[in-house]
Amino acid sequence: MEQHRKNALPEGQVRPVRNTTDEAAFFLKLLRNSHKTVVLTGAGVSVASGIPDFRSPDGLYSKVSPEVFELDFFLDNPAEYYKIAQERIHTMADRKPNPTHFLLSRLQREGMIGEIITQNIDGLQQRAGAKDVIELHGSVSSFSCMKCHRSYSKDELEKLFEESEVPWCNCSGLIKPDIVFFGEALPIEAINRAERAAIDSELFVAMGSSLVVYPAAQFPVIAKSSGAILAIVNRDSTGLDYMADHIFNVTLEEFSGEILALLDGGT
Ligand SMILES: [Zn+2]
Repeated sequence: MEQHRKNALPEGQVRPVRNTTDEAAFFLKLLRNSHKTVVLTGAGVSVASGIPDFRSPDGLYSKVSPEVFELDFFLDNPAEYYKIAQERIHTMADRKPNPTHFLLSRLQREGMIGEIITQNIDGLQQRAGAKDVIELHGSVSSFSCMKCHRSYSKDELEKLFEESEVPWCNCSGLIKPDIVFFGEALPIEAINRAERAAIDSELFVAMGSSLVVYPAAQFPVIAKSSGAILAIVNRDSTGLDYMADHIFNVTLEEFSGEILALLDGGT
């Protein structure tokens, strides 16, 4: 395992090409050596499902102004928000989970990982069967009345759109997607749960996240300072590579496929 560097290479240094199967086997070994593993997932995990990263050149922000994600924009122009969201944002939930979602769900089912903390709002991790998912930024797959807090499914919302371009609750309150808008408080319960999971973890895996956006980026730091081993799995370098114990610079879909094959083969 000498080929697994302990830390990021100095800038500009070329990384030796490694075989994804070996990487996958080593990752599986890390999981098996840990009694409590927590996984944090970011946008990179959903790219293979056709969901663009927010900030990449082809990303969501190249098509939808970041302003649309501000609470004031939503409150001032709910009809415009819903018009854009129906086309470009809420449709995320209709995409299909990919091998990485399926891998994490399977690892959780088999007791190899615990909580999955996610920055994603697409709900695909749950669609792939995962249970213990902590959503840091909420989800586009459910909605709530801002006045009486009644919860609405996407199907129920579709029905309301047949009558009006803005969904209103029976109580006359405005119905809002359960995502965390800019200008809105972070979901404190989710943050606390994620923090506890990070503190309790022996192995903390960050997958598909550039680890630069608060609050997600703080959890690997919390885990590490509580004595956990930190493994980062991402295509590109991240903001926390300098503190990682193991870095897997891989294409997530391929990497996950290799791990699933190892599990199927009984390795
Ligand atoms: Zn209501």
